[in-house]
Amino acid sequence: MKFLQILRKAATSPQNRHRVSSFSANNGRRFFSHLHSQPPPPSASFGIAFDIDGVILRGETPIGGSPQALKRLYDDSGNMSIPYVFLTNGGGVPETERAAELSKLLSVRILASQVIQGHSPFMQLVNRFENELIIAVGKGEPAKVMSEYGFKNVLSLDEYASYFEHIDPLGKFKNSTSQLAGCKKYSSKETDSENGPPSQRVEAVFIVSDSVDWSRDIQVLCDILSTGGLPGREISTQPPLYFANDDLSYQGLFPTERLGMGAFRIALESIYNRVYPNALEYTSYGKPNPFVFKNAEKILMQSICHPIEGQNPLKTLYMIGDNPLVDIKGAQQAGQPWFSILTRSGVFKGKGNHPVYPADLVVDTVEEAVDYILRKETLQT
Ligand SMILES: [Mg+2]
Repeated sequence: MKFLQILRKAATSPQNRHRVSSFSANNGRRFFSHLHSQPPPPSASFGIAFDIDGVILRGETPIGGSPQALKRLYDDSGNMSIPYVFLTNGGGVPETERAAELSKLLSVRILASQVIQGHSPFMQLVNRFENELIIAVGKGEPAKVMSEYGFKNVLSLDEYASYFEHIDPLGKFKNSTSQLAGCKKYSSKETDSENGPPSQRVEAVFIVSDSVDWSRDIQVLCDILSTGGLPGREISTQPPLYFANDDLSYQGLFPTERLGMGAFRIALESIYNRVYPNALEYTSYGKPNPFVFKNAEKILMQSICHPIEGQNPLKTLYMIGDNPLVDIKGAQQAGQPWFSILTRSGVFKGKGNHPVYPADLVVDTVEEAVDYILRKETLQT
């Protein structure tokens, strides 16, 4: 596919690297606009969105024949022939790093623009909080994620909490060597400075990925959110709070599901609402939010460069996921042209279909799902 070849070259050239790392529906339109003179690929009448955890990978191990399945979306020369994206609620690392990691694990070349993570929509809030102090929470590198989106005054919760003596009374009982790894070291002069973080108002909090230390994070978030962004001060108006997803649980390496960001949200909300006078206010992104599917639809549509404005040449968009409440419910809510495929390789393990959110198709693995799609679309692969 000529267009996708051009896209790959544009994406990997040094001068375009920043643009790709900052990809979104809006700036994606700018990114693709200069390529619209290229003819659309003839066979691109459908696209695929893959969930990652429980479909493509379990932990860092490919499952369900995922490398072979993805390979079928490329031609003999190794050029992508079918538009696809990864649509995951996971995150904690910039899209550029996640794409490189996936490429290595799955033995295909994946672009940052193909990786839509739970926190990817946060980049659309840059204009509102670009120069304000914001706090990024979660495993991995939450502050780096937000910095790459363009936020200029961001601290991880690990680093922010380190400015406040005794803010976590349980801290001395924890092994903190990993918690503060990578944080900058500040002199007492900087810490006591009138302009240091403790004296600056936190204007927004972003839960980028799963909290590592629930007790410390819930304590410090209550401090920030109840005081208008100034821990230790009087009760005041709550700053905005954003979650990258609202997953109650996810399938990791352990045999049964693990508690996810939605469970952390419930814990924080329950405590906050019991302790403080006003109910916690927040916004959650991630699947099954229809916004996420519309955003994926735009990105897939832009990736095939259709010539008629307002017309979508992608007749069918396939969502392949393992979680009925997240992947299948989301695809159903998004409506046409989404077609949902549920795999039995992760959260869902039932013999039949899910009783509440039945998928359009249920298969055992992602390889079976791709095989079904390619046969249905009558493509020679
Ligand atoms: Mg999943």
